[in-house]
Amino acid sequence: MPLILDGTATQKVIKSELADKIAMLKERGVCPGLGIVQVGDRKDSDTYIRMKGKACNDLGIYFVHKRHEESIIMDDLVESIECLNNDKDIHGIIVQLPLPNHLDESVVLSAVSREKDVDGFHPENMGNVSLNRLENCMAPCTPSGCIELLDRYNIELNGKNVVVLGRSNIVGLPMALLALHRNATVSICHSKTKNIQEITSKADVLVCACGRREMVNADWIKEGCVIVDVGINAVDDPSKKRGYRLVGDVDYNSVVDKVSAITPVPGGVGPMTIAMLLSHTVDSCIRMTN
Ligand code: NAP
Repeated sequence: MPLILDGTATQKVIKSELADKIAMLKERGVCPGLGIVQVGDRKDSDTYIRMKGKACNDLGIYFVHKRHEESIIMDDLVESIECLNNDKDIHGIIVQLPLPNHLDESVVLSAVSREKDVDGFHPENMGNVSLNRLENCMAPCTPSGCIELLDRYNIELNGKNVVVLGRSNIVGLPMALLALHRNATVSICHSKTKNIQEITSKADVLVCACGRREMVNADWIKEGCVIVDVGINAVDDPSKKRGYRLVGDVDYNSVVDKVSAITPVPGGVGPMTIAMLLSHTVDSCIRMTN
């Protein structure tokens, strides 16, 4: 049986470490605060925000949710973000993505104060991630969570072949950069990559973030590979109360006897993403109030 990289259990450990830091902050009269800006009422965004709000509540992090009409114009949205930028009780800000098409994502993300950018999507933070100036910035939460999970299970990246499936700004690209900065030899595959299985079959560590359900099977990997499955895909399942279940980008049953370690879906990378958001918010609060 492979090692299961348990994101739910690891999140609990991280939360208890954060609880100690928060207690110390509160002794100084400081409470970490997170603000989330949402546009529209997408059901998936509602769910993610609810989960983030609950996690903040559990830890005693002050939480503000600003929801705007789908039709909001750019100036009003930027003004709403600037209110949070100027709010002394808020130390972390995230803009829930995706935004409606009429809003330019890069302009909106650039409006978030760099110091409060706990999602790590501000272009300056992305630049710092590229330049390996990680002490000056917060890297995006999902790839940070993947690295943290590997670290906590003592899985070394130094000198390893790491293959990342996907090159999005929020997962694939920063994941590849973080692995590179850990001295991995990194390959990035995307929808135009030829002979993709030839590349993945050389991976010591394969990070799957392409949003294609159960695309990766045993034929794609070598014996003993470590798999980090970032994908979250809903599959109809009438046997479930909500009518669907979540699966990753990896066909878990196909690969499970061939890998040395693997993240489950759900319960792998998802909880780590939230853990990193909380951790970034607390760290940002410590930095801003010291
Ligand atoms: P995205 O923006 O849609 O990017 C998908 C990437 O995968 C793109 O780079 C795309 O290539 C590549 N791709 C698509 N089809 C491919 C194929 N057949 N072969 C190889 N590459 C392919 O998605 P994302 O936001 O990065 O998210 C990826 C997955 O992670 C989704 O399932 C998402 O729900 C999940 N996710 C999970 C968490 C979590 O906390 N667990 C957080 C964020 C996202 P091109 O660039 O060429 O189009």
